[in-house]
Amino acid sequence: HAKQGGRNAIVRATARFGQEALRRTRLVTDLHAALRGGGLTLHYQPLLELETGAPWATEALLRWTHPVLGPVSPAEFVPLAEEGGLMLDLGAWVLRAACAQARRWLDAGEYRGRMSVNVSAVQLAHPGFVDGVETALRESGLPPEALMLELTETAALRDLDASRARMAQVRELGVWLALDDFGAGQANLHQLAHLPVDVLKVDRSFTAGLDAPRSTRPLLQAAVGMARGLQLCVVVEGIETAEQLEEIRALGCDAGQGYFLGRPQPAEA
Ligand code: C2E
Ligand code: MG
Ligand code: MG
Ligand code: MG
Repeated sequence: HAKQGGRNAIVRATARFGQEALRRTRLVTDLHAALRGGGLTLHYQPLLELETGAPWATEALLRWTHPVLGPVSPAEFVPLAEEGGLMLDLGAWVLRAACAQARRWLDAGEYRGRMSVNVSAVQLAHPGFVDGVETALRESGLPPEALMLELTETAALRDLDASRARMAQVRELGVWLALDDFGAGQANLHQLAHLPVDVLKVDRSFTAGLDAPRSTRPLLQAAVGMARGLQLCVVVEGIETAEQLEEIRALGCDAGQGYFLGRPQPAEA
């Protein structure tokens, strides 16, 4: 019986594995179609200056509603796009759409700080990266200071010299650069301190950990100290409660982002 049970478990595991592989293949195929024919949108989440409550930036976040499977999280489909060779097209679409939206807001006299766009490691690794950013700015007529690009530590440290050169070029255009999910990667502080960025965006796990038995408070304090010493802005993600907001404000962070301050929403909202 034990043997039989074991075999059934393997059959079930194989079936589940097969279904997951099938879902992945299907998502990649259908993402191609979505890029050509629609189904992709951007939602926008505010980042607020903590001192004043004024808009500091707006983060563009990809949304995809699959015709049959319904909404699929970018945490699932962005890695698939990276593996499936789709990320350059997807990233270019996001950059163009976000710049166009920022330009519309500027034209309407609605100042929202910078439009902040997530950039994948695949995009940064591509030799055409800087050209792509310039093209998006030119086509939208968005001033470079009104654009911020978010890169993760992992993306920035992969092929460090080439990444650093491209990041410096983008910054020379006047575009802001942020290190996203700061503190969540495996990067060492020395490498991070030498990246050409303007903003540290502290990972939301540090906010969530404020109330933990071993609070992340000292780590947040250290991140603020490091940002100050390097003359960087420090932004904290994942603010979900009034208490967290108050603590993070008291720590001296420049800006905050989280469901308590505003959820990602369509542009109209
Ligand atoms: P991220 O860049 O760190 O974006 C922040 C994520 O945290 C978003 O998830 C946002 O909806 C969520 N979030 C915001 N406030 C809170 C909060 O208070 N609590 C919690 N628990 N979560 C909060 P989302 O939209 O599902 O995106 C997940 C990730 O997918 C992003 O993380 C980013 O890495 C990636 N992504 C999204 N859009 C793009 C894109 O256009 N290009 C690339 N390359 N990656 C993208
Ligand atoms: Mg981000
Ligand atoms: Mg982030
Ligand atoms: Mg994050």
